[in-house]
Amino acid sequence: MTRVIAIANQKGGVAKTTTAINLSACLAELGKRVLLIDLDPQGNATSGLGIAKHKLTKCIYDVLINDVSIDQVIHKTEQKNLNIVPARIELAGGEIELVSQSSREGKLKIAFEGIIGDYDFIFIDCPPSLGVLTLNALTAATDVLIPIQCEYYALEGLTLLMNTLERVRKHLNPNLNIIGALMTMFDARTNLAIQVVDEVKKYFPQKVFKTIISRNVRLSEAPSHGKAINSYDSRSRGAEVYRELAKEVLERV
Ligand code: ADP
Ligand code: MG
Repeated sequence: MTRVIAIANQKGGVAKTTTAINLSACLAELGKRVLLIDLDPQGNATSGLGIAKHKLTKCIYDVLINDVSIDQVIHKTEQKNLNIVPARIELAGGEIELVSQSSREGKLKIAFEGIIGDYDFIFIDCPPSLGVLTLNALTAATDVLIPIQCEYYALEGLTLLMNTLERVRKHLNPNLNIIGALMTMFDARTNLAIQVVDEVKKYFPQKVFKTIISRNVRLSEAPSHGKAINSYDSRSRGAEVYRELAKEVLERV
């Protein structure tokens, strides 16, 4: 069965996009058929995988708003087995335009119908908000993966996210599962980072991934080269940790 995994946290800068790109690429490297949906108007996953946004004629916006079939906006990437549906800035308008449409939260789920069997995993890189775009992701998803930055305010905002997931389960998607919380940008030199991991483990018993994503400068460089970490610097610590995460995700599904 295809797992559709929304990578969500309404906080910006917690490594949603970094995780979307690199987890997708590492699963593709293991031979899984993976599709990454860029659902953030910033389009960072799109450019991070080497797609030139100015050359696109269509993006996920057209799927959600103009009823364009999703297979018309699927692009291959440099990574074998990894395809992407790009986003451009007009998607920002989509957030507003969707609000006036009927079954507005279900658009993405419907769009997936014709392609879902073609993939083992579909990842959705969510925008940093809990608006109608994120609700589309959570409605279409089988699972949600929550990246959490190892910093002082890590737990702030999680209650709001959990309440949103509860509402989605009640009204839109009863079986939505939390596949795990992922600790990101861990710096072993600080006691704070270690404390934060403990706190998050208390908040999400059993749910925190064993793999912890350490800070690694190669991970922050890779997107400007349009590459996932496994092709930008295959031997880096960043590539290692995202490969570990890919294996852990396979164990959990
Ligand atoms: P989000 O999508 O949640 O807004 P990003 O994935 O864009 O977050 O990450 C925010 C910034 O942190 C980016 O500049 C990214 O390159 C950097 N970053 C993410 N993870 C790491 C890491 N493990 N080590 C170093 N830099 C990272
Ligand atoms: Mg992002």
